[in-house]
Amino acid sequence: MQPKIYSVDEHRIPPDKIDSHAFYVIEKLRQAGHSAYLVGGGVRDLLLGQKPKDFDVSTSAKPEEIRALFRNAILIGRRFRLAHIRFGQKIIEVSTFRSGDTEAPDLIVRDNEWGSEEQDVLRRDFTINGLFYDPEQQTVIDYVEGYSDIGKRMLRTIGQPDLRFIQDPVRMIRLIKFCARFNFEIDSLTHEALLNCKEEIVKSSPARILEELLRMLESGSSRPFFHLLNEYGLLRPLIPALADFLKRDEHQVVLQILNEVDSEVAKKTSTFDRSVLLASLLFPLFHTHLLHRIQEVEKLPHLGEIANEADRMIDEIFNPFFRLPRRMRGIMSFVLASQYRFVPLDGRLRKPRVTRDPLFPMALHLFKIRCALEPDLLPYYSQWTEASYASHESSEPAGDDLPLKRRRRRRRRSR
Ligand code: ATP
Ligand code: MG
Repeated sequence: MQPKIYSVDEHRIPPDKIDSHAFYVIEKLRQAGHSAYLVGGGVRDLLLGQKPKDFDVSTSAKPEEIRALFRNAILIGRRFRLAHIRFGQKIIEVSTFRSGDTEAPDLIVRDNEWGSEEQDVLRRDFTINGLFYDPEQQTVIDYVEGYSDIGKRMLRTIGQPDLRFIQDPVRMIRLIKFCARFNFEIDSLTHEALLNCKEEIVKSSPARILEELLRMLESGSSRPFFHLLNEYGLLRPLIPALADFLKRDEHQVVLQILNEVDSEVAKKTSTFDRSVLLASLLFPLFHTHLLHRIQEVEKLPHLGEIANEADRMIDEIFNPFFRLPRRMRGIMSFVLASQYRFVPLDGRLRKPRVTRDPLFPMALHLFKIRCALEPDLLPYYSQWTEASYASHESSEPAGDDLPLKRRRRRRRRSR
């Protein structure tokens, strides 16, 4: 098939917007006799006039050949083997052209059959992600009508959408991600397939889905993403308790929290720890759950009990599909429980006693998000941040400096 070629006069991607390291990688691969292009999200974002998040390179070189060419390359992935070439903090992802079977109605468990550049485009997910950019000729190479779909702001799978979703259900999550991020329309056949295939989502690897969810929490578009994920019925099979809660959540507290997270991300005022992001997503659910528990037992729990409750709830919420890393669960539980250290359940203001736990600033981060939505909490927040500064300045060990977890364990042992 002959691709459409768009010249710089047509696509108008300024050459100086191409990442210099990606350019270097492509040059070096070409000098070694391979073909290589910029591909995927980087090309799409440049055409949309946005700053690409990362740059991916696609090449005829095999993974071992890539590793032999670049001292700073490591090979990763079993399902999808590719090279990461590191330049300081930056990573250029280099993948070998794959043939991929785009017709088979089976889940792809390995995608490591090498192929031609055209085959490589055809096994990609959406037309807007299927464009090559040749930095030497400054041309965009289009086998899949991706260029015109970007112009139309249209999301369309490459190939038959239901087959492509069955082969890799993570593509449905990616569809929602692009919809949330760019506010593009979904083509009618792709839309229909999304509705038909949503139950397939549980066949995907939990680790890959978790990665996409976390990336979206970090993206600045988490509110529209989780809203759409729920609307399209994809959240329920993954995190049923959260889907139920969103249905009942009249005041849309979860979406408001995500909105606040998004605006902090957009302002680039701070970076979020991934566990804090997940704890933020869960907080309204946890709070409601805790209030129910209190009604049941007719007694206010102390901080250790609240932390136990958080541990239990995190497992209950995520275990139907995900297995969260232990460290992440630990941080989330600390961050959630600490909210009741900042504002005790009995409503009594106490003198803040800052813990020396390195997780403390993370707990305060979620509290800050909550304050943006509940200004009544601001006096508590100021008190705690002031106490936190004061404790950093003082060299005296704080009296109350045991992390919640450690203290909780001691209590348990003494039973
Ligand atoms: P982002 O801006 O979030 O990085 P992206 O489209 O670049 O978006 P990546 O995960 O970096 O996403 O993937 C790079 C490219 O690899 C995609 O643009 C697409 O061409 C291809 N790709 C990624 N995931 C899949 C998939 N599940 N199935 C087919 N192709 C995929
Ligand atoms: Mg990318």
